[in-house]
Amino acid sequence: MTTTIHNVLQDTLKGLYIDGGWRQASDGGTSTVRCPADGREVAIVASATAADSERAIASARAAFDDGPWRRLTDIERGAVLLRVADLLERDKAIYAKAEALDTGKRLVEAEYDIDDIAACFRYYGKIAGLDAGRVIDTGKPNAISRVVYEPIGVCALIAPWNYPLLQAAWKVAPALVTGNSFVLKPSELTPSTSIQLMETLAEAGVPAGVANLVTGPGSKVGPPLSSDPRVDLVSLTGSLATGQTIMAAAAETVKNIAFELGGKNPNVVFADADWDAAVDNALTAVFLHSGQVCSAGARLVVEETIAERFVAEVVERAKRIRMGGPFDPNAETGPLISAKHRDQVHAYVQAGIAEGAELLCGGYIPEDGVLADGFFYPPTVLGNCRSGMSVLLEESFGPVLTVETFGTEAEAVAIANDTEYGLAGAVGTSDASKAQRVANALRHGTVWINDFHPYVPQAEWGGFGKSGIGRELGQAGLNEYREAKHIWQNLTPAPTEWFGGNPL
Ligand code: NAD
Repeated sequence: MTTTIHNVLQDTLKGLYIDGGWRQASDGGTSTVRCPADGREVAIVASATAADSERAIASARAAFDDGPWRRLTDIERGAVLLRVADLLERDKAIYAKAEALDTGKRLVEAEYDIDDIAACFRYYGKIAGLDAGRVIDTGKPNAISRVVYEPIGVCALIAPWNYPLLQAAWKVAPALVTGNSFVLKPSELTPSTSIQLMETLAEAGVPAGVANLVTGPGSKVGPPLSSDPRVDLVSLTGSLATGQTIMAAAAETVKNIAFELGGKNPNVVFADADWDAAVDNALTAVFLHSGQVCSAGARLVVEETIAERFVAEVVERAKRIRMGGPFDPNAETGPLISAKHRDQVHAYVQAGIAEGAELLCGGYIPEDGVLADGFFYPPTVLGNCRSGMSVLLEESFGPVLTVETFGTEAEAVAIANDTEYGLAGAVGTSDASKAQRVANALRHGTVWINDFHPYVPQAEWGGFGKSGIGRELGQAGLNEYREAKHIWQNLTPAPTEWFGGNPL
């Protein structure tokens, strides 16, 4: 029998979770989720319509306006989040398997993701109530002035397919703990763990109507989430193009927006960097999860004096990276998410070659053996890249590394900042002063020194430029989900006689 999470997780058709229960799509629509590593069926889920999104928004609105959730204390809501973290750990095997099947990523990577997701809920559960506002010293003995925080209201939370539940958790945890209600829309390609999360939230004590889920294509279920006047905030993690569509749609009702979009992230390597660590980082930076990482270090910017030898070693190591499905113990990386995405990555590589880039490894679609059953694309390195080439400007979101070289520190910084994005970057050097100077000069939301990829839920995540608006994680990630209100009380009311020249 085919192993599907449909039989592991689902006894009834799921996908739309509205007002505390599973619903069918209003037109009866369904869609089949398939594993990108081999095309096997993972689950059949409900595929929502725009009308279903509106039902979910109505549920969230009613729960926010009339329900108990936002009236609980921060500490009470925080306790629910801590329970969610415990339940995620209890059900880690189920979640990790579902995430691996939906995305094709290695099971071990999916397990790391579930640990990170539990850590995110635990972080926001623990800081709930630590910042309840502040009292202002007005200098006036007859006035009390204080700033308090309130939930924004109904939040539309829209997530991508690369880290499906992790990206959702970065939104769900702060939205919940601050007292909001939400409608979550996962990618139509990877809905399984978001479906499971609804069960976990209910078990942890989140009341009906607070957490709602709609599954289906963005073009169909998305528009009401960014245009309906009952929605107060749209938080998207996705592509620049989707961000621009949502921003335009949200303008009419002047919604709050929080965006985590794309990246074109430089990895600057100086000649004095620790050699082995720098080679290793260059590989992990771009080939982790087959490059389907918003912060992937897809641009290697390496000092001229070491470039030839450094790139040769990166290429030799890249050729040896083993591709395979989620449960292949020998696999080091998995497939791309879909045939369409792989075709786009391949076209991107071909365009780079046509513009003069040199193909140093990869750059083909595997047609033999088990890899032919999935959407695999080998680690690819493009040398001889020059400013202005499309491969240096556009995000590939695949396992493609471009190489640029520099002579001076100033040149390195200029190349690294030569992007409309600004999500993440790295600098490799053994000179601590140079490391700090370059880190300060990079116009990117995260900068790693002699490292690539680590993050912690306590530290803000987000981008400069077209990489986004606002921040996730950390205190700023909480603030996205609350309004500040200033309350002033005059303890001894008396006429000010501002207009005292016009008595009755
Ligand atoms: P995408 O923009 O195609 O889709 C993201 C989500 O938006 C999906 O759920 C999709 O269904 C939905 N959507 C699409 N059109 C919509 C609309 N009109 N209204 C509402 N929702 C709509 O992105 P993707 O392909 O799923 O993910 C890859 C992109 O995400 C990359 O560009 C990557 O850089 C970015 N990303 C960024 C971060 C970050 O932290 N900055 C993290 C992960 C991914």
